[in-house]
Amino acid sequence: MINPRTNSSLMPFQDALQAIQSNNQCLVETEDIPVYKALSRILAEDIISTINVPPADNSAMDGYALNTADWRPNQPLKVSQRIPAGTAPQPLEVNTCARIFTGAEIPAGADCVIMQENAIEQANDIEQENDIEKKSGTEKNSQVVFTQEPKPQNNIRPQGQDIRQGDVVFHKGQKILPQHIGMLANVGITDIRVYKKLKVGILTTGDELIPPGTPLQKGQIYNSNGPMLCTLIEQWGHKVEAYKHVIDDYDSTVTALTNMTRVCDFVLSCGGVSVGEEDHIKEVIEKNGTFALWKVAMKPGKPLLHAKLFNTPFLGLPGNPSSTLVTSHFFAKLALAISAGQKVSAPTGFPILAGFERNSTLKRDEFLRVNLEGDVATPHSQQSSGALHAACTCDGYLHIPANTKIEKGKPFTYFPFYCF
Ligand code: AMP
Ligand code: MG
Repeated sequence: MINPRTNSSLMPFQDALQAIQSNNQCLVETEDIPVYKALSRILAEDIISTINVPPADNSAMDGYALNTADWRPNQPLKVSQRIPAGTAPQPLEVNTCARIFTGAEIPAGADCVIMQENAIEQANDIEQENDIEKKSGTEKNSQVVFTQEPKPQNNIRPQGQDIRQGDVVFHKGQKILPQHIGMLANVGITDIRVYKKLKVGILTTGDELIPPGTPLQKGQIYNSNGPMLCTLIEQWGHKVEAYKHVIDDYDSTVTALTNMTRVCDFVLSCGGVSVGEEDHIKEVIEKNGTFALWKVAMKPGKPLLHAKLFNTPFLGLPGNPSSTLVTSHFFAKLALAISAGQKVSAPTGFPILAGFERNSTLKRDEFLRVNLEGDVATPHSQQSSGALHAACTCDGYLHIPANTKIEKGKPFTYFPFYCF
């Protein structure tokens, strides 16, 4: 446990990430919901398929199903049946082929499909004098010469190719994306068990802050982090259960936070987390909770407080808007996801080359807001932690480790904003 009064050292960024990951557990119960409402929810059960997908061998092409043993060069085969998708085929007669369409079931006795581009259809006059069935574009009882030697399994999508009966389709802890909803439908599932949404409380602090809608008086600025945090929480799939702003006053702060811990699974605060006399968050935790993490060696974002407040997990985010954003992206997102039941790890980023150089070094890990051109990053000219606009016009963060010079062409880890 950390005592913030005696511990003034900064925790390395990677250690802080590790601490966030190890200090959290799933905090929510489960509920059953229809699949179509499950976007961004977290699975609370393994999904096991009761069927094969596809359920039967089917054709990957419009063409002709046949048995490779019946094929001879330049020898026509009679078309003995027509199999559109959605129909049940008859077993294939020996020495014949079946007209078949994409997605239609392969008849028993056929072992390949030849695409129609490699087939020449010939009318069969004798057969056509009899009662033959004609369908638009394709004629049963016509005959076909194939210009390509077929191989077994050609153009057949085998039963269970995608998922086999009994397979685990998704594991508990999976966050549901649109493709998961498609896959759940694919295996015939209508309802799933998910975790209830994590209830998050957000407290913003500061005498100078007012909500947009009233003209600014001298000394005031608009509260931008409150709306930004509410939106992040919703974007990540959680519920903003409580949102409040307080002035820089201990009693107001402790009352608001105490009330939030009664109705929320997780509480976030913004601002007031530093060491000034107007910063009261730390004192609230000192008197009512336990610290897990305090101050991270990163820029923007140094003051960051991770704690339990009356047993409710709590993250105190710094107030400068860029610091709020970067600590939310790396720490709040991860902590909340784990608390919401998601199996998740910290984003890893990927290498991108610096398109610039800098000889001076910093003692903290730095997260520059950069734009990409190809695989080269250029920093925004305004990197102040108080300035938010760079994060709106840039593509992501370039992570410069502590004590590292930046040389042109040197690779650094890049985190696109879309991964948050
Ligand atoms: P603090 O940590 O409270 O000293 O805040 C650091 C800086 O961030 C100050 O310039 C505050 O005015 C600013 N700030 C704090 N909270 C917010 C907020 N919710 N919206 C915009 N700026 C904020
Ligand atoms: Mg403040």
